[in-house]
Amino acid sequence: MATDENSFSTAPRLSLDRLTCVFDKLVAVDDLSLDVAAGEVVCLLGPSGCGKSTTLRIAAGVEEQQSGRVRVDGAVVSGEGRHAPSEQRQIGLMFQDFALFPHLTVAQNVAFGLKRRQDDRNRIVADYLARVGLADYGAKYPHMLSGGEQQRVALARALAPKPRIMLMDEPFSGLDNRLRDEVRDEALSILKDEGTAVLLVTHEPDEAMRMADRIALMRGGRIVQIGAPYEIYNNPVDGRAAAFFSDINIVHGVVQNRQTDTAFGPFLTPDLVDDVDVEVIIRPQHLAVHSDGQPDVGEQDGTAAKGRVERARFIGAQSLIEVRMDHDNKLLRASVPHAWLPEQGTEVWLSMRRDRCFVFPCVNQSKVSTPWAAE
Ligand code: ATP
Repeated sequence: MATDENSFSTAPRLSLDRLTCVFDKLVAVDDLSLDVAAGEVVCLLGPSGCGKSTTLRIAAGVEEQQSGRVRVDGAVVSGEGRHAPSEQRQIGLMFQDFALFPHLTVAQNVAFGLKRRQDDRNRIVADYLARVGLADYGAKYPHMLSGGEQQRVALARALAPKPRIMLMDEPFSGLDNRLRDEVRDEALSILKDEGTAVLLVTHEPDEAMRMADRIALMRGGRIVQIGAPYEIYNNPVDGRAAAFFSDINIVHGVVQNRQTDTAFGPFLTPDLVDDVDVEVIIRPQHLAVHSDGQPDVGEQDGTAAKGRVERARFIGAQSLIEVRMDHDNKLLRASVPHAWLPEQGTEVWLSMRRDRCFVFPCVNQSKVSTPWAAE
């Protein structure tokens, strides 16, 4: 039996408990619950308007929910008749519009949130500027810095007060790709070092995969799936969740006698009744392309289906081959991890890696049991 002391020590650092937020009649956040542990990075990921920023703003204390609670280290900071302002939540904020104070030097900007003796402040400011690679920049003004450098200053400013929780809303989106990777990795390593609980909003799957310990996939104000990046990528809860992370191919079929026949052979669908429409989903990199006649792909991978190359493009690390299938005249996209540009009209056979297929009923039904879908 856990003692009070034990249950406090295992309490999540940030806990969002059944939050609901309605603007006029629009339900922006709908009964949402989520915990973030110390040292953990959780990404809220989802399409525009799904409620990510509103959730973050409620956690920050700049928006107030109609129902539900926000707890920090087990103590209610919002809800149950209480609403502590942001500055009392020991929360660091880093938003897309990070707005440094233009009339303050870099060092003064970083010192802004600190409430300590001058000596101590200088030491902390110097320490954080060094950690973000700007040790010699303290006396400069923001307009003298590049975008990436300004973002690093904003990061140092957010980190210097040692917040227990960091809330970040698309914090790196103003940077070009290379700088973004650099600043993001730097931020992540400092936050991990300090054991900060991080809740980060992004609409970019790559960013979420790269940063998160767990991804909370949102839709319509709700979390539809939460898990480690590997888990959520390889075992999506439905077709839309699969499509959020990459291009997908969809092959349709209809259930008969507990299985769904397709041009790629039958798929077992034991949980579905006859005549249910089914979609078999596969990512381009899990379709194999064969150009030497119909291959024997082994019973486990069903059968290969024939088509003709419509277009082939080399896109850097891989080639993308678009194939018009004989059986339904639809296009499927396969990617191969090398340069290969077969001519338009070339006859090819495609086969699916069954262990990478996802099988879902087409409309509003729960996912079919797919033991082959996850590794
Ligand atoms: P994006 O990725 O585009 O920033 P988001 O997932 O962060 O989107 P939110 O900003 O949380 O979405 O908005 C969720 C919904 O609530 C949207 O339909 C938005 O228009 C609406 N909304 C957000 N803030 C307000 C507000 N202050 N007043 C009225 N409606 C709002």
